[in-house]
Amino acid sequence: MAWCPFATRMELQPESDAQPAIRPTQFIVHSIIAPWTAKRTYEYWRDSTNLESHFGLGYAGDLGQFIGTETRADANAAANRRPDGTGAVSIETASNTKGTDPWTDDQVEMLIRLGVWLHQRHGIPLRICRTHDDPGYGYHRLHSAWAVSGTACPGDARVRQFREVVFPGIVRRATVQIPPPSAPTSPAPEQETDMAIAKVDESNPVDVDLADNEWTTLAFTDAVIHSGPRQLVGPTYVQLTFAPGTQAFVTGRFILTNVDGTGASGYGDLGEFDALRLPQFLHNHDVPAGKTLRFQVKARTDNGTTSKLTHRVVTGDYLVPAGQ
Ligand SMILES: [Zn+2]
Repeated sequence: MAWCPFATRMELQPESDAQPAIRPTQFIVHSIIAPWTAKRTYEYWRDSTNLESHFGLGYAGDLGQFIGTETRADANAAANRRPDGTGAVSIETASNTKGTDPWTDDQVEMLIRLGVWLHQRHGIPLRICRTHDDPGYGYHRLHSAWAVSGTACPGDARVRQFREVVFPGIVRRATVQIPPPSAPTSPAPEQETDMAIAKVDESNPVDVDLADNEWTTLAFTDAVIHSGPRQLVGPTYVQLTFAPGTQAFVTGRFILTNVDGTGASGYGDLGEFDALRLPQFLHNHDVPAGKTLRFQVKARTDNGTTSKLTHRVVTGDYLVPAGQ
């Protein structure tokens, strides 16, 4: 049984001892539809109902843990514990009584910290769950199997924050690797001294109609994601959102081109994902001098129709000389 070192332990009994073990493979976030502290949430689970979550998170970032992460909790319907023994770690977060407000900055920060800890402690993979039993990160309404009878939880504002801030934040923080300092006895290569981390973080909500089965280069702010030379820190990450009802399989690829866009060479095609499962694409190679990194997408349908891309995000960290 695992307890998060930066959560306040408020153990629920008898659930903590009586419920079966799980091997945690997912993290699912909820809104509790009450403006409660973590302590008040604990008292509610203790005194009023037994549909508990593993964690509770107040508006001020107060994090309580009620059950160890390797024990089943009851907030996620079929995802609590599957027949193979895997299951979801769940968190209830304070919200207004309609479940319509965004998370506070303190809540966002704690969700990112907890998400990183779950990746490090339990190896939950850094992706959004593509199906109800796919290991990764998600929010309650993402998959219908996670609710008994349908839910809006955690609310539109928080779904947007999850996609654009919380999950990319977990990916970034879990994958940042600062180059080790040079040993004092060896002469330090110039490029390893005084480096700082800078960030690409661009999104574009302008709709794009993708012709069937044709590659299209996407613009975020513009078509260039990185201009070389650029040393990446962790992956650069693209996430795509398609219009509701889209029926297509989506493939992406990162390409290098000359500065003027000519001379394209690809890194290989990535995936063929269901358009409605928030396709995600990661890139991990530094960009050489004189080259630019761009991203292309292709949507394949059964009937030759166009597919409407409604939103796209690219995030990623890279090194720059300090002071720039
Ligand atoms: Zn929920």
